[in-house]
Amino acid sequence: MSTASVSTRTAPPMKSGRLPVAGRAETRRAFAQLLLSEKGRVAGAIGLHLVAAVAAAVAPLLLGEIIDGLAAGGGVEGVDRLAVGIAVSCVAVVVFTWAGTYVAHRLGERLSARMREQFVDRCLRLPMPVVERAGSGDLMTRSSADVPEAGALFRDGVPQVTVSILKVLVFLGAMFWVSPLLGLCMLVAVPPIATGTRWYLKRARHGYLRERETESEIGDTIAASADGARTTEAYRLEDQRRRAGDDTVAASWGAVRYTLFLRTVFFPFLDGTYALPTAAVLLVGGAFYFDGAVSLGMVASCAVLTRQIMFPLDHILMWIERVQRGAAALARIEGVADAEGSEDGATAERPADGTVELRGVRYAYPTGGDVLHGVSLHVPAGERFAVVGPSGAGKSTLARLVSGADVPREGTVHIGGVDVAALPLDVRRGRVTLVTQEHHVFTATLRDNLVLAKDEAGDDELESALAAVGADWAFDLPEGLDTRLGGTARELDAASAQQIALARIILADPDVVILDEATAMLDPRAARDTERALGAVLEGRTVIAIAHRLHTAHDADRIAVVEQGVVAELGSHDELIARDGHYADLWRAWHGEPVSHELAQDGEPVSHELAQDAEPVGHELGEDAATAR
Ligand code: ATP
Repeated sequence: MSTASVSTRTAPPMKSGRLPVAGRAETRRAFAQLLLSEKGRVAGAIGLHLVAAVAAAVAPLLLGEIIDGLAAGGGVEGVDRLAVGIAVSCVAVVVFTWAGTYVAHRLGERLSARMREQFVDRCLRLPMPVVERAGSGDLMTRSSADVPEAGALFRDGVPQVTVSILKVLVFLGAMFWVSPLLGLCMLVAVPPIATGTRWYLKRARHGYLRERETESEIGDTIAASADGARTTEAYRLEDQRRRAGDDTVAASWGAVRYTLFLRTVFFPFLDGTYALPTAAVLLVGGAFYFDGAVSLGMVASCAVLTRQIMFPLDHILMWIERVQRGAAALARIEGVADAEGSEDGATAERPADGTVELRGVRYAYPTGGDVLHGVSLHVPAGERFAVVGPSGAGKSTLARLVSGADVPREGTVHIGGVDVAALPLDVRRGRVTLVTQEHHVFTATLRDNLVLAKDEAGDDELESALAAVGADWAFDLPEGLDTRLGGTARELDAASAQQIALARIILADPDVVILDEATAMLDPRAARDTERALGAVLEGRTVIAIAHRLHTAHDADRIAVVEQGVVAELGSHDELIARDGHYADLWRAWHGEPVSHELAQDGEPVSHELAQDAEPVGHELGEDAATAR
């Protein structure tokens, strides 16, 4: 991530870090809001299908009239007239069903598109720690499986269920209009259908949510195995990874089997109940026909209507399963909004300047104890401040807290006098930037990759930002700023990607820049040149650099040595060297001289710790040292 694109909001607690799932009421509200956003089209689709349903109910009624007419000794003309009526109603059914389906599908596509846009928007606003805790599998399953499932709910489910409900109501109305007595025969199907549906619905939501959850777990396991392929190979963890994969697949299979069991009980049961109303109409109709309470035509009309009702009813009940799945998917999509939190408590105050003030900051990751133990720091606006210390001391954690990506468990982090975590996301993005060594180059042109930081930047501005970070290669690209980067287009090496991230900072021009190993991918000389060039461009900005190369610390106005979650030393390079403490040891180790203190937490000598990043003494460092003295 190249910039501090993180939310100001504190994420709600989540079980095992998973993204939350919205409750029923919240899902219903989201569903209703989406429908209301397309009121006109919803009304149009309902209107057209209503006309189609009424037209479909006309045919059985006219059929009854024909039978009664013939039974009463009527002539052929009457039959012809009614037959024409049936033909007209059939044409009307086709025309209005076509028009209604067209409108409904357009409506469904629009709703589905709106939901997707909302989801992407929310994902982009998710706080960084929330995404890290949730794992990429959960978010990937929500976007690749839940979004299409919920999309199908809007595209197909909503129109089909609505149309089917309309048809059931119209056909029922027609039955009661013909004969309330025969209409009541439909009631025989109600108790078994209601009982079966209740049984199914009670179990389906949980079942489908579990199914989705286990799919996410499979995604997580696969992603972890792919990411850690080298580690797996190095430590011979193949069996362990295979077992982890088998366990998640077994859990998923169990969840799928459960929903399969629900379907194999529910749907055959329903099929059995459909014959009941027709049988009841024929039995009751037969009994009352001899009493003269109903005519033959009425019985025939109602018998046909009971069959007609069964198609939409079957549709509704079949869709219950898809609607359940769609609703479960929608609940998971809506859950992302909960993870995003609320900006309700965001402060209206704005930072006065780039002063960074930490007071008594304590922080613990969910999996362990405190890694920062009451850190207090005052970094005046415009200062170049370096943080050094052994691996695992808490430097990156400090960087995240200053950027507002995380909030301290105790204590405060203020920027320009305002709690950084309480700033609205957009404001904070504009004022504080965190650059780590992980960068993403989007599959897009170089220009697109840069203007992410500043929409309105012109070519001159983009080019001077690239020049400032030493990205000379950018000027040799065949199509200049219009050259496509990333993916198969033009893969950039890590150092070039880092330069793009640094150029973005210059364009974003925030008050506070936090560089967490932001030049680690560059070679030592390029790193120092880039840092100096950045320093010149960012003159007046507060720059907090987590330094693994001591030249960064040497160039800074002040340095904090962080050890085991506390600030062990604080001062300028010269002051700390004169103090002859841990920084002086680091500095000597950097130059290959013997050290007098042990800095590393893990018991390893400092010189080993530094060896990861140290340039060979006598090369660049020799020059630096000469300059320093
Ligand atoms: P390095 O120089 O190696 O990056 P650091 O000084 O930046 O180290 P941090 O990354 O801030 O140290 O880590 C401080 C402590 O917090 C370490 O003990 C580390 O193991 C732990 N830690 C860091 N990130 C997490 C995390 N996401 N979950 C749990 N513990 C973490």
